[in-house]
Amino acid sequence: MKIAVVGAGIAGLAAASKLHKKGHDVYVYESSKEIGGHVKTVSIPSSSNDRPDILELGVFMHDPVAIHPTMCRLAKEFGITSQPFSLTTTVEQEKSHIFWTTCQKIPRFLASYPTLSEYCLHSKMGFDALKNGWQSFSHLIELSRFFRAIKNDKNCYGNISVQEALNQNLFSQKFINGWLLPQMFCWWGVPKLYAMQCSLKLVVDSIAKVAKYPQYIFPNGWNQLIKAIACSLPQNNIYLNTEVQAISRSPKAVEVTTKSGKTNYGAVIFATPPSITRKILKDKDLNEERILNSFQTTTTEVYLHKDTSWLPKRQKKAIINLISNERGDFCTFWCGGLLKGRPDLFISWGDQLQHLPKNSLVLSKGSFERTLPTMSYLSSCKEIQKIQGNGNIWHAGAHVHALKENETPSLWHENALLSGFLVSNQEV
Ligand SMILES: Cc1cc2nc3c(=O)[nH]c(=O)nc-3n(C[C@H](O)[C@H](O)[C@H](O)COP(=O)(O)OP(=O)(O)OC[C@H]3O[C@@H](n4cnc5c(N)ncnc54)[C@H](O)[C@@H]3O)c2cc1C
Repeated sequence: MKIAVVGAGIAGLAAASKLHKKGHDVYVYESSKEIGGHVKTVSIPSSSNDRPDILELGVFMHDPVAIHPTMCRLAKEFGITSQPFSLTTTVEQEKSHIFWTTCQKIPRFLASYPTLSEYCLHSKMGFDALKNGWQSFSHLIELSRFFRAIKNDKNCYGNISVQEALNQNLFSQKFINGWLLPQMFCWWGVPKLYAMQCSLKLVVDSIAKVAKYPQYIFPNGWNQLIKAIACSLPQNNIYLNTEVQAISRSPKAVEVTTKSGKTNYGAVIFATPPSITRKILKDKDLNEERILNSFQTTTTEVYLHKDTSWLPKRQKKAIINLISNERGDFCTFWCGGLLKGRPDLFISWGDQLQHLPKNSLVLSKGSFERTLPTMSYLSSCKEIQKIQGNGNIWHAGAHVHALKENETPSLWHENALLSGFLVSNQEV
């Protein structure tokens, strides 16, 4: 069958490569000038050696145990090297007076104090908080309670939103503002406007997995994996710089419209964020309309720069710096902390920022459309199966639940990859 895949992110490429292997005639449409979607590896000329420095503007970390087992197996098959790194965090919230970092080791006598135990030990959380007064210290106690609750009972946070958790006094407003919201902003780009509607279970599940297992990077770039998947496809069948404008169905075919014309296919696989799918797909039935409309998406603008004023002022810089000050709420990722010899460059993204990193110090920018982990996402990511195959239209992407039925849905790269495989098995 002649099949079109819209979007060359991991989901689209995974679906396309499997369908091609099954003998279908597959064509991939990608609106940007390169494949990869949220994987955006950039090479920067190095000041210290001949080889350029490799940095990730988008997806950067994985863990072979809890979150990315299939993806890591695949990377291994392709011979792609993976390397662990120490994921450190610094929190500097001027407004709520919360300051602490995991860059420093804990003094022994404190590490053995049971209330502040497990998580602090695992994450080497620094007790700088003590120096910063009661506000930070009480925050640490709440943080410790949070991680102990996760450990003791995986389902302790049930099916409730962040707002409901606040209403039920599970956490203080301060803990939510000083910890949960910055985390949600860092990992999913959730703006404050949507944060309270998000699923606590999903957020907690992901944070717990990240805290529990060592995280890895692909030192030679995530795009190696993307290229390895894409190279099994006939390269002439990948149309770059080709935005799909509309898709409509007739009893005989599915019609794909781009700037250069219309082409008929036997089936089309959407591997685009749901906001884009609902714009392109014409004549949606009631179920399609309802399910596609129930996802919320956001755009995260990221800046690769060397402007050190976007770093913590009082604490050591960590890999992830969650900062709130007069500029607004933002996250600064320190590329130099990942591996020895990497340049001291930073990636920042923020929620309604009043200022941006200085233009003259910005080396590159990226913009990513992504699905938010809202309560409605939690049900819609499964319900979307009801509309799979409607008029030969299929859906893949991070928003389509493709993990085991009993696993908490996730918006990580692993799920996007599996959704591509899933749709290729369901199709034909
Ligand atoms: C900044 C950032 C960091 C992240 N970090 C991590 C991480 O460290 N680890 C992890 O596991 N996950 C991470 N994620 C999540 C992960 O990126 C996603 O789960 C996954 O990449 C989504 O893949 P996808 O194929 O569903 O969508 P995408 O990667 O968004 O791919 C969709 C593709 O469709 C294309 N497209 C859109 N509209 C059209 C159109 N009209 N016509 C043709 N093509 C179109 C887009 O250009 C894009 O290439 C991160 C996400 C972001 C944004």
